[in-house]
Amino acid sequence: MPLPDHASVVRRDACHALAHERFDVLVIGGGITGCGVAREAALRGLRVALVERDDFAAGTSSRSSRLIHGGVRYLEHGHLHLVFEASRERRLQLQTLAPHLVRPLAFTWPVYRGARVPRWKLRAGLALYDALALFRNVGRHASLSVAELRDAEPELAPDALLGGFR
Ligand SMILES: Cc1cc2nc3c(=O)[nH]c(=O)nc-3n(C[C@H](O)[C@H](O)[C@H](O)COP(=O)(O)OP(=O)(O)OC[C@H]3O[C@@H](n4cnc5c(N)ncnc54)[C@H](O)[C@@H]3O)c2cc1C
Repeated sequence: MPLPDHASVVRRDACHALAHERFDVLVIGGGITGCGVAREAALRGLRVALVERDDFAAGTSSRSSRLIHGGVRYLEHGHLHLVFEASRERRLQLQTLAPHLVRPLAFTWPVYRGARVPRWKLRAGLALYDALALFRNVGRHASLSVAELRDAEPELAPDALLGGFR
C-alpha cells in the first residue's frame, strides 16, 4: 500500500484537530481576508482554526495584481478616510510588517487633452493624497513636463499630451 503524501497527513491531522479540539476562533475562507484575520487572532494568543473549501488564495485573492495601493482612486468619490487608512496600512506593510515583500513601484500618469480627469484636478487630488498620507508616502508626487514624460516613457503617443505625474 503506498504511503500517504505529506499533504494528506497534514490534512488528516488538521481534520482530527478540528473534530476533537476546542478553538476560540473559526475562520471560514483562506483568501487574504481570512488568512489576515487568522494571523491577527493567532498573534493575540487565540487558538484559531481556518477552513478553506478549495485551496489558500484560490478565489479572488489569486487574481490580485498584488498592489498594496494607497487608494488613490477612492479620492474621486470623496472616501478620504479610506485613503487615509490605506496609506497608513501601506506604510505599516512597507516599514514594519513585511518590508521583505513590499517594495515601492512608481506609476507614471500621462494626461492628454480632453482627459476625463483634467490636469489641474489630478494635481489637486495628488496633493490631497500626499497630505492624507501625512506626507509620508513612499515619495511625494511629482509633476512631469511633456519632455520628462517622453524621456521616461518613449512609447507614449505624443499627440495632445499635456504632461503628467508620477
Ligand atoms: C483582477 C483583480 C485585481 C486585483 N488587484 C488588487 C490589488 O492589486 N491590490 C489589492 O489590494 N486588491 C486587489 N484586488 C482585490 C483583492 O484581490 C480582493 O479584495 C481580495 O482578494 C479579497 O480577498 P478575500 O479573502 O476577501 O476573498 P477570496 O480571495 O475570494 O477568499 C475567499 C475564500 O473563501 C473560500 N470559501 C468561500 N466559501 C467557503 C465556505 N463555505 N467554506 C470554506 N471556504 C469558503 C473560497 O474558496 C476562497 O478561497 C484585485 C481583484 C481583482 C479581481
